[in-house]
Amino acid sequence: MEIPKQVEKIIKDLKEKNYQAYAVGGCVRDVLRNVEPNDWDVTTNAKPEQIKKIFPKSFYENKFGTVTILTNSKENNLKEIEITTYRIDEKYSDKRHPDNIKFAKTIEEDLARRDFTINAIALDDKLIDPFNGQKDLEKKLIRTVGNANNRFNEDALRMLRAIRFACTLDFSIEEKTFKAIQKNSESIQAISKERIRDELIKILKSNKASEGINLLQETGLLKYIIPELDQGVGVSQNKHHIFDIYEHSLRSLNVAVEKEFNLEVRFASLFHDIGKPETKQGEGPDSTFYNHDYVGAKFTFKILSRLKFPKKFVDKVALLVKNHMFVSDPERLTEAGARRILKRVGQENISDLINLRISDRLGMGRPKARPYRLRKVEYLIEKVSKDPISVKMLKIKGNDIMQLLNIEPGPKIGAINDVLLSEVIEDPKKNTKQYLEKRTKELNKENLEKLRKLAKGKIQEKKEEEDLKIKEKYWVK
Ligand code: ATP
Ligand code: MG
Repeated sequence: MEIPKQVEKIIKDLKEKNYQAYAVGGCVRDVLRNVEPNDWDVTTNAKPEQIKKIFPKSFYENKFGTVTILTNSKENNLKEIEITTYRIDEKYSDKRHPDNIKFAKTIEEDLARRDFTINAIALDDKLIDPFNGQKDLEKKLIRTVGNANNRFNEDALRMLRAIRFACTLDFSIEEKTFKAIQKNSESIQAISKERIRDELIKILKSNKASEGINLLQETGLLKYIIPELDQGVGVSQNKHHIFDIYEHSLRSLNVAVEKEFNLEVRFASLFHDIGKPETKQGEGPDSTFYNHDYVGAKFTFKILSRLKFPKKFVDKVALLVKNHMFVSDPERLTEAGARRILKRVGQENISDLINLRISDRLGMGRPKARPYRLRKVEYLIEKVSKDPISVKMLKIKGNDIMQLLNIEPGPKIGAINDVLLSEVIEDPKKNTKQYLEKRTKELNKENLEKLRKLAKGKIQEKKEEEDLKIKEKYWVK
């Protein structure tokens, strides 16, 4: 693999004006690994003002000395190329941002401020590699440039970057570097939630996601980032489980990764039992975790909101966690049951919910887990999805009810509608005008409170009761 012509041209233009210039950082690392870089970075001793003069199609808007050049390339990773002036970071008093940046004179000084040896190699006609990054690339090691303890003390985000690179590159963390993360883990609290989120996303998208979470745990970072997950370490389950809560969560995540499930399902797999430590009752083979799905959904919502994930993402993962206990045995799932699942999570989330159950099942390490049976469930839900599950699909409308009963618009209409809907969910054959009109007249005799109870009782409470009974009998989970 070679330096692309757009990058070569930038280096050449800078050199023609008597500046030094190199490709540097992640792109050099990736070229040496024979992998297509995400983006290309150039470093130079020219100052931002001087760079701007050489490249009219560029902009400079941050204080870190980076000028962005727009190329005409059609390749996504070459459309924008960043040129950064050699620099030294001065004193980080908040473990987060350098207080000041000072331009450096030599490429070696610039490489020395970079995080890991493998990210501190510059390339032009030859490689400049003062920290033996190539050797660590061969050994597949993440090692800080210079003293690990000092480097993490300067910038705590680097600890998370070390783990992220270990995951995305499938490397190990060199021993001193690892120990320094353990020692400094507490200072991750100084880092903004957004930056933590971005690293976490990269870890979960990688093929080594569960190893990454485990590295967070072993280094002590997890208890500052997701303490709720750390709580499951060593908390045993019951006779249905071989693994403790934490290990089962990692294994479920690992299944989600192996099956290439999307990011929402990966997070849901990791978090689906996060309510268990809180809800555990009793010890030993008969301990129970009633309502851990509901509690888990609350925790999931809290964790992802805290980490500034977009609301839509948070809601979706929480919804999956909340519903992960749905009846999924094709012999026991009735059509009415399938319709209720559909109503609770929506058509668009059904296949993700099934995928979550696959991760959960296979993550239990039971030899007899048969995920293909879940596809039958998916089929059943698909089949009933054509039946009415929303008030709009009822064969009788609010207006009809008003006319029939000769009453004004008001909450009673909605309440009657809900009771009718709950009955139709139970049995779609009841969705005829004739039946619904008859029922409407009967329901008119009840007061509002009773009607609401009837609807809720049917749609929700009954379901929960049923689920709990089933949990007790089969899952105890
Ligand atoms: P990716 O492939 O994910 O883009 P990258 O190595 O290019 O990985 P970037 O975050 O794009 O990572 O950073 C570019 C380079 O800047 C890194 O290779 C590293 O040399 C340096 N760098 C980035 N963040 C830091 C940091 N927090 N401390 C020290 N050096 C850093
Ligand atoms: Mg990069």
